Amino acid sequence: CGIIGILGKHEVSPQLVDALRRLEYRGYDSAGVATVDDGGRLDRRRAVGKLVNLSDRLVHEPLRGHAGIGHTRWATHGAATEDNAHPHRYGRVAVVHNGIIENFRELRQELIGLGIQPQSQTDTETVALWTGYHLDQGYSPIEAARATLARLHGAFALAFLFEGEADLMIAARKGSPLAIGHGEGEMFIGSDAVALAPFTDRITYLEDGDHAVLTRAGVDVFDLTGQPVIRTQSRIDIGA
Ligand code: GLU
Repeated sequence: CGIIGILGKHEVSPQLVDALRRLEYRGYDSAGVATVDDGGRLDRRRAVGKLVNLSDRLVHEPLRGHAGIGHTRWATHGAATEDNAHPHRYGRVAVVHNGIIENFRELRQELIGLGIQPQSQTDTETVALWTGYHLDQGYSPIEAARATLARLHGAFALAFLFEGEADLMIAARKGSPLAIGHGEGEMFIGSDAVALAPFTDRITYLEDGDHAVLTRAGVDVFDLTGQPVIRTQSRIDIGA
């Protein structure tokens, strides 16, 4: 029920877990993080139950890197198990999602027809599978995410992280809130400004149907039709 994403300067996995703690108030049944390390390697850790289970796992099996995404899950499709926890991964992409993909059954059947076998019961995994499939077809990360977004019905806040891309994150929202945080040579995404308060008070809210392409240098926002748009940045006073 919470999303965080960081393109930062510091080891990102403790930052992700701290930010998820600030989203705990929304409720959750499992949690997970994925990072891309400086060599471009994408990896993830997930755990059922409290965030301490995830942070304990990270002590024993650390994740390196300065780019990452994190998630607290409130299960809607599939039980609260580690296999169903986010991030979902297929090939070169990892995805976190809040909300519901209404047409996931149809998307899933099509994937099975293509010989791609889902590993979870979630609606979310279809987003990772389709995006990974598009990457395997030779699409760039941005093209792959866009081709997938065009297929989705329902309510979502989504964040995508890619193998080999330590300075790229893609975010999208329709029906579920998502905020972009602007740092100094760092960029953030979060379900709300509270999660981002330790990092920055400069926030841009995405509008419904928007997707955003983030690097450490900044963000480009596109609307439902794929046109570049300007969304205003404001200073939020929350207090870290
Ligand atoms: N529908 C997704 C799932 O059940 C996301 C749930 C959420 O918003 O945390 O995994």
